[in-house]
Amino acid sequence: MDRRGSPVRREGSACGTVGLACRVTSAGGRALRSTAIPNRFDLIVVGAGSGGFAAARTARDLGANVAMVDHGPLGGLCILRGCMPSKTLLASADLLHDIRTAGELAVDVAAPKLDYRALAARKRALVRGWADYRIAGIETFPVFAGEARFEGRTTLRVGDDVLYAPRFIIATGSSVAPAVFPGLVEAGFIDSDAALDLDEPPRSLIVLGGGYVGSELGQFFHRAGVPTRMIVRSKHLLSGEDHDVGIGLTEYFREEGIPVETNTRVLRVSVRPDGMKVVHASRDGVEEEFVAHEIFYALGRVPNVCGLDLDAAGVEHHEITGILVDETLRTSNPDIYAVGDVTGEYLLVHVAIQQGEIAGRNAATGARERVDYRLSKTHTVFTDPQVAVVGETERELEANGVPYVKASYPFNDHGKAVALGKTKGFVKMLASPADGRILGAAILGPQASDLIEPLIVAMAYGATVQDYARIPHLHPTLVEILTYPAEEIAERLRTAPTLAVAK
Ligand SMILES: Cc1cc2nc3c(=O)[nH]c(=O)nc-3n(C[C@H](O)[C@H](O)[C@H](O)COP(=O)(O)OP(=O)(O)OC[C@H]3O[C@@H](n4cnc5c(N)ncnc54)[C@H](O)[C@@H]3O)c2cc1C
Repeated sequence: MDRRGSPVRREGSACGTVGLACRVTSAGGRALRSTAIPNRFDLIVVGAGSGGFAAARTARDLGANVAMVDHGPLGGLCILRGCMPSKTLLASADLLHDIRTAGELAVDVAAPKLDYRALAARKRALVRGWADYRIAGIETFPVFAGEARFEGRTTLRVGDDVLYAPRFIIATGSSVAPAVFPGLVEAGFIDSDAALDLDEPPRSLIVLGGGYVGSELGQFFHRAGVPTRMIVRSKHLLSGEDHDVGIGLTEYFREEGIPVETNTRVLRVSVRPDGMKVVHASRDGVEEEFVAHEIFYALGRVPNVCGLDLDAAGVEHHEITGILVDETLRTSNPDIYAVGDVTGEYLLVHVAIQQGEIAGRNAATGARERVDYRLSKTHTVFTDPQVAVVGETERELEANGVPYVKASYPFNDHGKAVALGKTKGFVKMLASPADGRILGAAILGPQASDLIEPLIVAMAYGATVQDYARIPHLHPTLVEILTYPAEEIAERLRTAPTLAVAK
């Protein structure tokens, strides 16, 4: 791997008699030998991102002889082009926003400004450090650098090398979805990979898509001083979330000055003679044009299944939905497992790691441990205000006909939030009317990604709202806001025990 993260063959490749392209290192990362090594392993993990690395480590800890294959750049999406670089950029833009709005807290700050080049340099330096640390961990395994392609159910080709194992774990992740709108490729655009790696911000920007990547980075660019407009097909940002959460976030974006064009369908893209890019879209049957210097295409990801020749290995898959797995993460070939984004289940790093650990144990020992997404599907969106969701949403409960009781509480009525000047949003708790068991919760508000944690723990232990309301909370803190909906539901269940669905 060179400093820019480009894939290169490992030093010490073309090893000995079998000519394998790898370097074998000790658990401490020190090169042990670069001569002949066996091309047979107990387990081969294809893809060394978060899911693959967790799987390999887990299986090795159980005594398996594990090799990893990755075409590079090594480090994984989360570190190189996902969670970590995006949150690093957001941190600067959010700080800038807090300084700009510090007057509300009686702090007078002269016009702050963002040094975008320094911001980009800071992000690169941090990512390099995180990646180096991860690469040192990966290199404690035999690593085969190159594109993996199955040649049979127990045979994998990596360049000139043919590797054998009775079991495999596929963890090849996902890539930015191909551009689907006519004219977009010709006009040129940036995707999330490019958006995270700019040395200068665009002069103006249209974001296509209102999922979490579009929302986080759309707000980032706006706060970085780029006139930014968002175009979304659904009626609010984060179309998969409960409507109160998605509509709430959309309204806050608009209040902050980010135009969010909802219910708007992109038709095509063109370029004006002056070089400006034009998005032609339709809303309520009326065609509209939106113009900007740059377009950020933020419309999803597709699983990395192409080129692996999964048919040769008997692994059922689909180009859009990914590799089909059962609850034990086995594919249609019971000796091959798949984890992480390539399964298309939940494209979240903690899910990839949990899946990796379970698949690693199952592959190493033949166990049939199952993955339980009830709590793992907890997710967060690092906009401001943030979004965090645990357990079931109202939409899921309604779709499944599950009765629930709900209570919400707004941050603008919570003393600590008012003192901090962070009053946007609300917390919402959903509980079973039968016994008050917490079914789910959503937070739209300050530090939602941290505030959700005690609820994850409470739900992991099957807590009821009555339990939660009894837990002591420090005062004054943001997190004590969670006791209010818990107390409200507990009180309603006490005074009306036969309550079915109350909204
Ligand atoms: C902008 C952005 C922000 C995100 N923010 C968050 C966040 O805040 N929180 C969160 O939980 N998630 C976030 N995610 C999602 C998260 O990054 C992914 O869910 C997670 O990193 C997926 O891990 P993985 O192990 O499945 O795949 P990856 O980490 O992508 O690893 C796949 C590996 O397989 C290798 N590979 C692929 N194909 C082949 C092949 N044919 N042969 C050999 N090697 C191959 C690749 O080189 C790569 O190293 C974000 C994603 C994006 C794009």
